[in-house]
Amino acid sequence: MIKKLLIANRGEIALRIVRACKQLGIQTVGVYSTADDNLMHLRFVDEAVCIGKPNANQSYLNIDTILTAAEITGADAIHPGYGFLSENAEFSERVEEAGLTFVGPEAEHIRLMGNKISAIHAMKKAGVPTVPGSVGSVTLANAEAQAKNIGFPLLIKAAAGGGGRGMRVVERIEHLLPQVQAAKQEAELWFGDDSVYMERYLKNPRHVEVQVLGDGNGNALHLFDRDCSLQRRHQKVLEEAPAPDIADDIKTPILQACVRACEQIKYRGAGTFEFLYEDEQFFFIEMNTRVQVEHPVTEMITGIDIVVEQLKIASGYGLSYHQDEINVRGHAIECRINAEDPMTFMPSPGVVTNLFAPNGCGVRFDSHLYPNYAIPTFYDSLIGKLICHAQTRQQVIAKLHQSLDELIITGIKTNIPLHRDMILTDPNFCEKAQNIHYLENHLLKKADKK
Ligand code: ADP
Repeated sequence: MIKKLLIANRGEIALRIVRACKQLGIQTVGVYSTADDNLMHLRFVDEAVCIGKPNANQSYLNIDTILTAAEITGADAIHPGYGFLSENAEFSERVEEAGLTFVGPEAEHIRLMGNKISAIHAMKKAGVPTVPGSVGSVTLANAEAQAKNIGFPLLIKAAAGGGGRGMRVVERIEHLLPQVQAAKQEAELWFGDDSVYMERYLKNPRHVEVQVLGDGNGNALHLFDRDCSLQRRHQKVLEEAPAPDIADDIKTPILQACVRACEQIKYRGAGTFEFLYEDEQFFFIEMNTRVQVEHPVTEMITGIDIVVEQLKIASGYGLSYHQDEINVRGHAIECRINAEDPMTFMPSPGVVTNLFAPNGCGVRFDSHLYPNYAIPTFYDSLIGKLICHAQTRQQVIAKLHQSLDELIITGIKTNIPLHRDMILTDPNFCEKAQNIHYLENHLLKKADKK
């Protein structure tokens, strides 16, 4: 078993990882930037090392400094969390070259999935259905021919893209070349790689994803699925598990295809296959080779601690479960709580003057907040995740209402009203899962008109 783990992350996920380590008797090393010496998880780690300035490039993204911190503390493994270096193949390579264990997949698989063109190619080969789209990368020379095969509207996406950035919808062929050119420039600027590809722009899909675990030796299993369709600017706002209203005979083959794909490539660790779901069909869009923000909803319905499983797999213990031991129990929904103005969505960092976290049966609040905690301006605005679990989706929604009423965070603005007063009171959402445009094009527009 890993003996001492360095957590190369901050915020709620760092605290989440500390908890899993304590359960397994693993010692922990926290790292922090100079803007972050007040982080909650630093109170629970065995050792803490300052790794540099607030700007993430000079701390949480600095591979050399993080490896030095591991060396001086004698850590034998590193967990990257999500974001920052979690999907950086060079980081995983450097960790292993230093003789340490990287809690995640092999660099080769991070690289394969990090480039969406190669990811889609690999999935097609493994028999996973993908969105009809371009073959290989799109250039100014081949764009028109590729587009004619796909049809309009289509979406230009950056091969190295992430975080919902760098996507352009093209409605007509006249707009294609200027858009390809602009997308390439943008991709180069944001991701340091100008390759782009194209996909059919699906009109009203849902975002449905499959959680998997692989042992790296060709064994894998799935932990069922999640629906993450409520998004703003392609960023998830609320997630639920299992994905509602999809018949077993449509879902099961996809779950099995994901497992087969993991087995074929000998995938190691936790991963997520993301799909768009429209007209009872699944279309693969990308794979995330790390733990996801929304992993708790899966933990609630399966009773499996995904971070504990990541640590066990990285320690060489393999998978703790057989597929037939994993069942869905009830329903779970997560509300991402952000420090932001609920009307303008502008970040709202500052001091949390008061905090009361809701509680009770099936209520979970994953957060690093505490009274008088000063939220720094340098990082993303996620300050917590409120997750509720109950027998039915309706009961979960009722429980979330109650819990959001109880959740008191003062001193800063949060998006609690967005969840409580807009999403969870909307009759359409309460009746059934909605598509990826619903929050922006329906709920937020309705609020604007008021
Ligand atoms: P990123 O890695 O930047 O998050 P994804 O490929 O995962 O990008 O897509 C993010 C979101 O963009 C999806 O959840 C969906 O809302 C939208 N999207 C992506 N591809 C398509 C498509 N082909 N048609 C319609 N919407 C899409």
